[in-house]
Amino acid sequence: MDLFSCLSPFVFCSFASGSSGNCYYVGKQDEGILVDVGITAQQILKNLAQNDLSMFNVKAVLITHDHIDHVKGLEVLMKNHPVPIYAHADCLQGLAEGSATKKVDSALFREVETSQPFGLCGITIEAFPVMHDGRGAVGYHFDYEGHTLTIATDIGMLDKVVKEQIRRADNLVIEANYDVEMLEKGSYPYILKQRIAGPFGHLSNDESAKFVAEIYRPEMKNIMLCHLSENNNSPERALQCLYQQFRRKHVHPDVNTTIFPLPRHKSTGFVYL
Ligand SMILES: [Zn+2]
Ligand SMILES: [Zn+2]
Repeated sequence: MDLFSCLSPFVFCSFASGSSGNCYYVGKQDEGILVDVGITAQQILKNLAQNDLSMFNVKAVLITHDHIDHVKGLEVLMKNHPVPIYAHADCLQGLAEGSATKKVDSALFREVETSQPFGLCGITIEAFPVMHDGRGAVGYHFDYEGHTLTIATDIGMLDKVVKEQIRRADNLVIEANYDVEMLEKGSYPYILKQRIAGPFGHLSNDESAKFVAEIYRPEMKNIMLCHLSENNNSPERALQCLYQQFRRKHVHPDVNTTIFPLPRHKSTGFVYL
């Protein structure tokens, strides 16, 4: 068996992750979906090309919520390369009204209902509600021939629904937005600190690490920490925090589990799920 036949046919690629923009590719190597388009259309095309892809390979765009760091490139991208846009009804309403997205052709909108799985490119996709202050905020669970991925980003609090969706996945993209100490001591105004740390804001390193350590199974292939804050976190801190929680819970991650933070601006290349 050669190396390529051992690799999973289901891939993930992060083009950008963090408050300055989020954009992921999920699918097969010849066709897939973009999850969020929070970087410019030009940057998206460049990232696709770097991975031997183009918008020709992209069959749909899935949006998690209507915050600008998730939808910034939508209008220009859809003008030149229209594909169906899947999102929760409240998010679609937000897109229709948002200053950066109101010119997007609403004929492309496809409403996604939580807990109602649907299929795209042979992948079964299920949206689930998350606690966040964006409109129609959801996470997504993907299943392609038994290869599973959950994307759980922009979450103020891990409730039962989100926890269940994370437990189902062998591959996980989970938010680790801020380090509690850095946020507390940092220069953000009090009201913004409250928002970030509140139940409709973002997940801290601690919150996400504690949960990952609790649900970890050796079958897990990739644990990717996403949406790290530029000012209130660092990749080292986020990782350190996770390994600390592993030690506390006497969890020894399997050698086949890859754990890494997603870079803010750089492409990860294909991650085989
Ligand atoms: Zn965000
Ligand atoms: Zn957000």
